[in-house]
Amino acid sequence: MQLLEVLIEYAQSSLNRPFSYVYQGDKIIIKGTRVLITFNNRDIVGYVLNVIDTNKTIAQLNEEMGFEIQEIKKLIDESPLLNEELFSLLDEVSSYYLAPKISFLQAMLPPSLSPRKSALKAPGIAFDYYYEVANDDESNLTNKQIELIRLIKNEGRILKRNVSKAKYVMNLLDKGHIVEVKEEKRRLKIPNYKYEAPPALSDDQKSVINEFNGSKDLVYLLEGVTGSGKTEIYLALSEQYLKQGKSVLMLVPEISLTPMMVEYFLHRFSTHIAILHSELTPAERYDEYRKIARGECQIVVGVRSAIFAPLPNIGLIVLDEEHTETYKQDTLPFYHARDIAIMRAKYHGAKVLLGSATPSLESRARGSKKVYHMLYLNKRINNQKLPTTKIVNMRDYKNIDRDSYIFSHALREAMHQTLAKNEQAILLINRRGFSTNVTCRSCGYVFTCPTCKIAMTYHKTDNMLKCHHCDYVEPLTGSCPTCGSSYLIKTGFGTEKIEEEIERLFPSAKTLRLDSDSAKNKNKIPLVIEAFRNKEANVLIGTQMIAKGHDFPDVTLVGIVLADIGLSMPSFRSSERAFQLITQAIGRSGRKDKPGYAIIQTYQPSHYAITFAARQDYEQFYRKEMEMRKLQFYPPYAFLVGITIKGKNEKKVIESTYQIVDYLNEHLQENGLVLGPATPYVPYERGLFLRSIQIKYTNRELMQSVLQNMQQLYGYSSHFDLLINIDPYNF
Ligand code: ADP
Ligand code: ZN
Ligand code: ZN
Repeated sequence: MQLLEVLIEYAQSSLNRPFSYVYQGDKIIIKGTRVLITFNNRDIVGYVLNVIDTNKTIAQLNEEMGFEIQEIKKLIDESPLLNEELFSLLDEVSSYYLAPKISFLQAMLPPSLSPRKSALKAPGIAFDYYYEVANDDESNLTNKQIELIRLIKNEGRILKRNVSKAKYVMNLLDKGHIVEVKEEKRRLKIPNYKYEAPPALSDDQKSVINEFNGSKDLVYLLEGVTGSGKTEIYLALSEQYLKQGKSVLMLVPEISLTPMMVEYFLHRFSTHIAILHSELTPAERYDEYRKIARGECQIVVGVRSAIFAPLPNIGLIVLDEEHTETYKQDTLPFYHARDIAIMRAKYHGAKVLLGSATPSLESRARGSKKVYHMLYLNKRINNQKLPTTKIVNMRDYKNIDRDSYIFSHALREAMHQTLAKNEQAILLINRRGFSTNVTCRSCGYVFTCPTCKIAMTYHKTDNMLKCHHCDYVEPLTGSCPTCGSSYLIKTGFGTEKIEEEIERLFPSAKTLRLDSDSAKNKNKIPLVIEAFRNKEANVLIGTQMIAKGHDFPDVTLVGIVLADIGLSMPSFRSSERAFQLITQAIGRSGRKDKPGYAIIQTYQPSHYAITFAARQDYEQFYRKEMEMRKLQFYPPYAFLVGITIKGKNEKKVIESTYQIVDYLNEHLQENGLVLGPATPYVPYERGLFLRSIQIKYTNRELMQSVLQNMQQLYGYSSHFDLLINIDPYNF
């Protein structure tokens, strides 16, 4: 009999331990596979952590354990889900992040292989069936049969469904002249691209590559201004690793940037490329994943979760736009792709290359300390100038256009000229929707989300009010729910409003809009980007989605409609975020041969994040922001950890939070600053009350052991769930 230690599919701190089951059948269960089990009278999926052969009887085991041990219901996999590297990575990440192992398994594996019940209904392997010639002796065959054999021989093999002559086929199969071969089908269709030879590298690019190759360091940070040719460096280095028989893992921050990167790679390498992101169908993801696991792809391009791709023999891992927050998963398991990249690179003896025009302060500070090896590209390709920028003070009414409270004279005039020259403009407003508030003029009622109690945004396209926090939506009926008045006013503006303003002020302009609303339809992003690149429109309006990465040769004007939106968020990262967003957005202007121009509209024209962004001066911004962080004892001067306590009973949640705070204070003493209990921004979630604790600290090892002990002591309570977020972004 086999005794199994099984992790169950629920990723809760209190259930984060192996449960015992037995298997009395005659198959051999291998650790690392899934089984169907009964837990609390429900059928769920478990993951076998360990298998112990035993001669004991069930009765003996029951006696020993003190409960009635159950038999598993079914074996799901025959071979382990993870290879050896990923199996050991699982241990490493779950202890580093103090997160339930099962949550990492669920993050690492595609939906069809995930240890969760829903995976059992997910699509499995699909096959294509082919005929191949096994014996080409033509004697005793009819002419028709010979014709078919020759056809198959010429083609190598042919798809079964393309052969209509069933009669001849059966005969040939029976006689052993042809055989049926089945092969796994790849449901994701990747187009063929013509090879494009690489451009001659610039001297700057060459010296970056030489320095990279000449060093044995593990992690490199390439700080290169927008348009300095960082992508070309990724491609050149990839080529080098592929030639050595190594594989390359290329991460991009978001789905909208995958098509462009994939295209770059497809043009350059005929080598097999796999693509991994969450908008592939489960079937497509499954195929891509298995193809990678079989060692059939040398390049993987994907978003955050692709960092877990079962790619063998890695030589290089690249994180493009490394500062982007999407690399940090802000739900369980709270991991950062950069950390995982480094763990995996160590295992493979590979290198990690981080690239950005505006590195995260954490990475740049590690660069200063030589923990990461700094590489620089200070100039744009062909010495193309950085855009000329202008900051417009929107507090001064004289600067504002008479016909529109949203546009300044300067921006309206610049738009006008850009359109007249048949060039393109990008307008950035980091807020989707039409207006940010709907208020009743009669009684002052503000339309707020019933769950989050924050103001809802009005979306004109579908006449809905939407909560941007929790995705709650309701139609705008036109009257106040409190007093019934229909005198409602809409204030504040977002992308939809800008689009309408452009249509009003520039009737001949053709606009496209890209934000997470227009991107709800998953095929839309690449279409919009393609359409804009093909000049089917001359104005692109969007949120941060359009600021990053894209290379549109004809864009000569970038307008930041309101630079202050990010700055007013209550976070120590707000200046950094605003700086990055503005710098990246400005960087979309004047990338080819025409000079670029950018206008920044703001109510805080002398804020350092705005002035340094206007000058595209990352280094100055970095110095200033480091001073601020030092004063406030925030990263990179301190590390953060966020702890959330979640439970049905608010009183118990509060009491426990106090206990945990006391525990932490007692064990950290002067080694950590414990802040809390605090009530989070969203204090109530799906029937559960939330409280939080934040800790600032400098000694990671010490913190790790204190947190581990805390988890042992409080993590298994049935009254609440304990979530630990190492290096949180939004806390
Ligand atoms: P970044 O990622 O640094 O913003 P890109 O890699 O997108 O910059 O490069 C900017 C532009 O310069 C692109 O159009 C790219 O094709 C072009 N480019 C890059 N390297 C070279 C080179 N060595 N010679 C000519 N053009 C180049
Ligand atoms: Zn009212
Ligand atoms: Zn809400």
